[in-house]
Amino acid sequence: MNEALNHLADQIWSYAETGFLETKSCDAMCEYLEQEGFEVTKGIADMATAYKGVWGHGKPVITFLGEYDALFGMSQKADITEYAPRTSNEDPGHGCGHHLLGVGSIAAAIEYRNYLRDNHLEGTVEILGCPAEESGSGKAYLARDGYLSNTDIALSWHPGQFNQVSTGSSQSCISVNFRFHGVSSHAAGSPHLGRSALDACELMNVGVNYLREHMESTDRVHYAYLNVGGKAPNVVQSEAELKYFIRSTTNPKAVKLYERVINIAKGAALMTETKLDVLFDEGLSNTVPNFVLENVLSEAFMKVPAPEYTDAELAYAKSFKDTYPQENIGVPHRAKHPELMKEIIKNEALHTGFMESDHSEECGMGSTDVGDISWVVPTGQINTACFAIGAGAHSWQWVAQGTSSIAHKGLEYAGHILAQAAIELHSHPELIEQAKAEHKQRLGDDVYECLIPKDVKPHIID
Ligand SMILES: [Zn+2]
Ligand SMILES: [Zn+2]
Repeated sequence: MNEALNHLADQIWSYAETGFLETKSCDAMCEYLEQEGFEVTKGIADMATAYKGVWGHGKPVITFLGEYDALFGMSQKADITEYAPRTSNEDPGHGCGHHLLGVGSIAAAIEYRNYLRDNHLEGTVEILGCPAEESGSGKAYLARDGYLSNTDIALSWHPGQFNQVSTGSSQSCISVNFRFHGVSSHAAGSPHLGRSALDACELMNVGVNYLREHMESTDRVHYAYLNVGGKAPNVVQSEAELKYFIRSTTNPKAVKLYERVINIAKGAALMTETKLDVLFDEGLSNTVPNFVLENVLSEAFMKVPAPEYTDAELAYAKSFKDTYPQENIGVPHRAKHPELMKEIIKNEALHTGFMESDHSEECGMGSTDVGDISWVVPTGQINTACFAIGAGAHSWQWVAQGTSSIAHKGLEYAGHILAQAAIELHSHPELIEQAKAEHKQRLGDDVYECLIPKDVKPHIID
């Protein structure tokens, strides 16, 4: 066990900093990397909490991706098997395991670096510190602004409940605010003089709800009111605002759907004689899978010994599994042997083996900014079991288990797998070429166009 890395992860867990505010977490990781001999640049791509650590020189350039942002409303005490906020229930907590993610990628970078150093081999190891995954699209800015232009292969992971190679795609997502401006007036005395921004929001939502019948079944559109214009029914609300997420399976499709939603917003403004501001917020690209890298990662799982657990650890896992309804635990997508996984889910509290997956191009519901990286370089990803089988991401159970020895072992395991995959790629440069050829073939005539316009800079989202 690498106690220093576990301590670093625990520190980041306790800081629980949300997107673009991960100052202490970023500093702690950069300091660690500097001590390890990496050349670190902090504050890249207009993001104070983004960093790049580099060691070595020459080809290949392998870049490990790290995340470290927390989630609002996820404060939770460690090791407690019931909902128990550490501070206020609105405060942030590490509900997605990103405190492990960033450090696990550092572990991989250091292990791979040690291999290059000890064997006097050429090659560049990079660790890219990517802030604001949960909201903020940190990686999209890094991809858009050329921070992977020298990278040959990107590798990453996400803490989870199962040891597996990630496959398939994720949705493109555009996040946008619609701000309507009207004219206030007395809603009883002079309603004819008022122009309601709230009406515009409501009409826009009605329009979009009619659009649903005419979208592809894999498209998703959801909205929230950011401003309803006030609490007084006797005032015609002059200011109101909606936030929309518009998702489709590819960037070009998401852009088309976005344009249709914009037309509906314009229609609502026209109907209500209000003015409309469209404020672009975030854009995430769909993920481009890479089967060559999936195979390399799968081989690495076969080679690296899985962690071993004590009876106390298994009992700990069981105590968390018991907090979650068994019937809600699904078999992971694309499991090669779903019946076997069903048995494991039924009988075990912790996944201790390796789940083989079938390659897939299918688009899962949900989005990640890893998608943008996967458009610019071949990208491979894995999951390791850092939490008991049961509750999934963004749950108090994940926060509670975040500093356990199980979480630490999952982090360390992920580091070994990613390092092993990098070693394999270094030893067999033809695999890198194959991964690149597959990437090229998948993109075809499409070129990467970040969904975030050039003039939109990283910002904190309302
Ligand atoms: Zn998350
Ligand atoms: Zn996450």
